[in-house]
Amino acid sequence: AFDNLSNDTITALATAPGRGGVGIVRVSGPRAGEIAEKMLGFYPRPRHAHHTPFLSDDGQVLDEGIALYFPGPNSFTGEDVFELQGHGGPVIMDWLIECTLRLGARLANPGEFSERAFLNDKLDLAQAEAISDLIEASSRAAASNAMRSLQGEFSKRVTALVQELIGLRTYVEAAIDFPEEEVDFLADGEVAAQLAAVQANLTNVKASAAQGALMRDGMSVVIAGRPNAGKSSLLNVLTERDSAIVTDIAGTTRDVLREHIHLDGMPLHVIDTAGLRDTPDAVEQIGVQRAWSEIEKADRVLLMVDARDTAELEPMKIWPEFVSRLPDPSRLTLVRNKVDLTSEGTDADLSTTPPVIRISAATQAGVDNLKQHLKDVMGLDSTAEGLFSARRRHLDALARAEEALENGAAQLHGAMAGELLAEDLRAAQQALGEITGEFTADDLLGEIFGSFCIGK
Ligand code: GDP
Ligand code: ZN
Repeated sequence: AFDNLSNDTITALATAPGRGGVGIVRVSGPRAGEIAEKMLGFYPRPRHAHHTPFLSDDGQVLDEGIALYFPGPNSFTGEDVFELQGHGGPVIMDWLIECTLRLGARLANPGEFSERAFLNDKLDLAQAEAISDLIEASSRAAASNAMRSLQGEFSKRVTALVQELIGLRTYVEAAIDFPEEEVDFLADGEVAAQLAAVQANLTNVKASAAQGALMRDGMSVVIAGRPNAGKSSLLNVLTERDSAIVTDIAGTTRDVLREHIHLDGMPLHVIDTAGLRDTPDAVEQIGVQRAWSEIEKADRVLLMVDARDTAELEPMKIWPEFVSRLPDPSRLTLVRNKVDLTSEGTDADLSTTPPVIRISAATQAGVDNLKQHLKDVMGLDSTAEGLFSARRRHLDALARAEEALENGAAQLHGAMAGELLAEDLRAAQQALGEITGEFTADDLLGEIFGSFCIGK
């Protein structure tokens, strides 16, 4: 399907910019071998580690290190690939890249090596996306999932669904070719049974993908409440368990704070809303607007009160200005904090609207209830194993395939219109093909690979 394979040779720094023990420059394309020969002074042996000086085009020794050459198609990109592993300093890396440019390469775009691997059928699209997910992973659970996707777990399950659909389509389309027998054919139960089987398998894949997407993207939680309710204390309790991965990023105002932590490997983006006060300061107002745009997107809003201040369980009575502005009050949870100073205990009321959680950020009593509640509202299954990483794009495609099959089932059990059923099966197959990249628009590819880092 792709005939836009570029014939030029690309070059980029493959390691992170900055200083490191080793820095790697990677070159891919038809001139890689020729560039290697010029920079080494000899033609490298395929898949052999040469320890050798790296030369500029005027013969000057720029660096020395390990040179590797992988002739296509047995390389990451499927093209001829030349790799220079030198001393990881920015000046020397820059110099080596400049040299490859003078010898006929051009700078690679973000994700262009991976894109070429995809276009040369070394990886499908879900696997290519998994490379980026692996590099971006913020927990070991997310990294393991990405690795399983990269190894083809997700793609295999999608491909199996596509195979089942192809079988079913063949059957239905054969029926259409014999109009006088079509209805008998469709009514014999075989089509219905096969269709139901594909639907069940699709539902399974979608459930796993939803868990994988949750582990990749996580959930966003806003903690709102009046000063001294204990918002920062709760944030500290949540982060302590995971303190190795805590980062504080102050927003545009000193009052908006985000933390990224994990719940059973699920990323949790917590936003403290201390800055949500009326202010005449223009810069601070922008910060408040940003905080609100986060709140509007949040998966969960925790309204926190000091349990001593109010017995009220009705959010509108606790903080009407805040609650009335929430786009979706069903995402609200009331957190009554400091129960160590009252006699109300830590029993949660999960069936009320909003749910009520009682905690003490000081003693950590009830905090596990809160964590479990957050996992529950997102449907996180902490016991699920063998997950693969998935993205919103994949979930959308699976949902479209599911819908097409539901329409098909309605056709089959209703009018028994074979043509329309065949059309639904085709639509489902098309949607699944978007996951592995069998059917994918070029602009989507640009968007996917454009979000990769340069050199990958
Ligand atoms: P924030 O303004 O909402 O961020 O509130 P802080 O987290 O800064 O807490 C305000 C005060 O309440 C601090 O002195 C905390 O030590 C105290 N505090 C917070 N949570 C609890 C709690 O559960 N029990 C008790 N006894 N004190 C708490
Ligand atoms: Zn605070």
